[in-house]
Amino acid sequence: MLNAIIFIVSVNNMIRSYRYRLKDSSSALQLNRLARACNVVWNFCNESQEHALRWHQRWPTYQDLCTLTTGSGKELGLHSQTVQAVCDQYATRRQQFKKRKLRWRGKRSPGWIPFKASGVKVVEDTVRYAGHVFRFWNSRELSSPIKCGSFSQDSRQRWYVNFVVEVPEAEATTGTRHIGIDLGLKTLATCSDGRKIEAPRWYRHQQRRIAEHQRKKRSRQARNLHAKIANRRLDFLHKASDRLTKECELIVVGDVGSARLAKTKMAKSVNDAGWATFKTLLSYKAIARKVVYREVSERLSTQTCSGCGAIGGPKGREGLGVREWVCSECGVVHDRDVNAALNILRMGHHTLALK
Ligand SMILES: [Zn+2]
Repeated sequence: MLNAIIFIVSVNNMIRSYRYRLKDSSSALQLNRLARACNVVWNFCNESQEHALRWHQRWPTYQDLCTLTTGSGKELGLHSQTVQAVCDQYATRRQQFKKRKLRWRGKRSPGWIPFKASGVKVVEDTVRYAGHVFRFWNSRELSSPIKCGSFSQDSRQRWYVNFVVEVPEAEATTGTRHIGIDLGLKTLATCSDGRKIEAPRWYRHQQRRIAEHQRKKRSRQARNLHAKIANRRLDFLHKASDRLTKECELIVVGDVGSARLAKTKMAKSVNDAGWATFKTLLSYKAIARKVVYREVSERLSTQTCSGCGAIGGPKGREGLGVREWVCSECGVVHDRDVNAALNILRMGHHTLALK
C-alpha cells in the first residue's frame, strides 16, 4: 500500500496527513452505515441552505448548523464532534467554492467520516471510534499525537483511516547542490547537472487494457487499473522529489504551463508525466527541508545558449524533435534539455540576486 503523505505548510509548524488502509472487510459494513449517517447530516445542511435561499433568509453559518444538528449524533450513531466536523466542512466548502448550495451526498458518493482527536482512540494498529474497533495496516509510525482525521473511501470502495498530525519542525537539508530543472515530455525532468529523471509511461502501457475493459463494460476493472496507475505514479513522484530536496540547497523549476499544454494533442503525455503533482511535491518538500525553491519563466530557455547567451537554439513546438544542437556563436554542442535546465538555474540565481 502506498503512503500518501500530504503536506500543508503553515508558518512554523507543518500539518501532515497520514493515510492507512483498513484491514478487515467486515468493518466496511459499519463504516458504510456511519458514512450514510454523515451523508444525512450533510444533506440536512444542504436542505437548511436551500430553505434559507428560498425564503431569502440569512445563510446558516457553521454555528447555526451546529445548533440545528445538536443531539442528532446519538440518533445517528455518530460522535457529536463528527456531526460538527461535517457542518464545518459544509460551511467551509460552500465558502471556498463560492456556491449557493452544494452537491447532495448519496449512495454513490465515496464514504467519508470525519472525527476529532478526542473522538477516537488509537492503540497500535487499532482505532476505536463510536464503539467500534477498526484495524489498519500500520505501515508507518505516527510521529506525533493526532489532531483530527477521517475515515474515507477511494474510488474502489476501499476504506482508509487518515490521521492529521502536527510536526513541529522539519529536518533541514544538508545538501549543497544548486539545480535547475527542465520539465519535459520525453523525460519528466532534466537537471542542470545532466541527470535525467525518466517519466515512466504506465498509462501508455496500460491504456489499451483500460480501453478494452471499458469497451467490455468492465468498469470495475478499468477503475482498478486507473487507481493502480495513479498510485504508482504518485509513489514515483514522491521518491524523485524526496531525492532532489535531500541533496539540494536551491531548486529552480521552469513555469511550464501544463494546463495550457494539456489542452493540446500532447495532453496524454502531459497528464502521464504529472508535472503539476511533481512541482507541488517539490515545493512542499522544499519548504519542509528549508530548500530554496523558485519557479522562473522558461521563455527562451531552450533557445538560449547557456554558454555564451546567444539565441540560436531550437524554437517552439516545431523544434521539439531536436534533441541536440550546436551554438553558432561559440560552437558548444548542447543537449537541448540540459541546456534549458542550465538556463533555468541561471535565471533562478538572477532572481535571487535581485532581492
Ligand atoms: Zn554559445
